[in-house]
Amino acid sequence: MICKSIEYRNYRNIEAGKIEFSSGTTILYGKNAQGKTNIIEGVYMFAQGKSHRARVEEELIKFGAESSTMTLSYRSGGYDSTLSFELCRGRRKTPYKNGVRLDRMSELIGNFRAVLFSPEHLSIVKGSPSERRSFLDAAISQLRPVYMRTLQRYNAILLQRNALLKSAKGESDRVPDTLEAWSLQLAEYAAKIAVVRAQYAERMSNIASELYSDMTGSRERITLRYHGSSKIGGDYGDERRVFDIYKRQLTENVGREILLGSTQYGIHKDDMDIELDGREAKLFASQGQQRSIVLTMKLSEGEYSRIETGEYPVFLLDDILSELDPARRSYVVGGIKDRQVIITSCDTSVRRRIKDGLCYCVRDGAWTRGS
Ligand code: ATP
Ligand code: MG
Repeated sequence: MICKSIEYRNYRNIEAGKIEFSSGTTILYGKNAQGKTNIIEGVYMFAQGKSHRARVEEELIKFGAESSTMTLSYRSGGYDSTLSFELCRGRRKTPYKNGVRLDRMSELIGNFRAVLFSPEHLSIVKGSPSERRSFLDAAISQLRPVYMRTLQRYNAILLQRNALLKSAKGESDRVPDTLEAWSLQLAEYAAKIAVVRAQYAERMSNIASELYSDMTGSRERITLRYHGSSKIGGDYGDERRVFDIYKRQLTENVGREILLGSTQYGIHKDDMDIELDGREAKLFASQGQQRSIVLTMKLSEGEYSRIETGEYPVFLLDDILSELDPARRSYVVGGIKDRQVIITSCDTSVRRRIKDGLCYCVRDGAWTRGS
């Protein structure tokens, strides 16, 4: 997978411009608040179908402008293609592939694949379960567009079921007639999603353990394990059984759910355990170990993607090299050499560390070729 270029119009602080990327390393350097992360965010949007940091899409349209467009050119499986987004205030964005409008965002996902490394990703280890669910969902969606549709469907059913539980609040002896149908549907989609997430975590666990010991020179073992209901244990092999357990939880605890006014069971409550030598990394791993775990998980995401698709995704490193110690830095740089990497940095010395490729100085939403 090679990202050839991206062209922006009225996007964030970029008025208009096209940036070409090296098939090796491209460095975007410059002072703070010039637009480096904006460029990376734009590229990653084509992998995820949405921005990783905007709360609402209108944030992406340049202040004072009514609309914005962005077009990514990439090469995959020997073919060149383009993907575009058109954003207008007050409307949902429209995706295109090779100039043809796509009906759904899930048709866009999976075409262009990228892995983003950002300093905020430390929260995958340290943060709440939702951070780990998002990590899994983002990684899996790029490989299986059907997964994203299943997830959207689950969330739509969850909204309906929650609305019903809320409307029944205060009359807890009266369970709404339609609740059971929603519970069954929710359990069905929950089982589909949990099985895929658990499988992904298990396979990634093997890849990550190997990479971790390469990076740290230690023999500590990383274990990633999907963690849903304790009743399921670690056994997600049988979708029917997983469905039965979610179904039971969603039908046997309705009184409590009505009292709380929301759905208390399902994949929106699940988590992924991250352990280092059998101990929970969130509690016992040092800062340095946590950082190594996150880097390992991100490199593993790329490795997993290559195994499934036959191509490496594009690696996007947003400001992470400067905060790594020399050993981790050289491991990461070594681990992604011979692949396409786009790196942002405020530290101009990063240019010296990377020999081939392109270098741009980013200033006030524009860029110039540097050396
Ligand atoms: P740092 O090195 O601090 O991470 P950066 O170069 O990565 O900086 P960006 O996060 O890309 O900086 O943001 C650059 C600028 O873009 C910010 O000053 C921000 O105010 C501006 N910006 C964000 N959204 C918009 C928008 N919709 N319209 C115009 N400018 C915007
Ligand atoms: Mg930035």
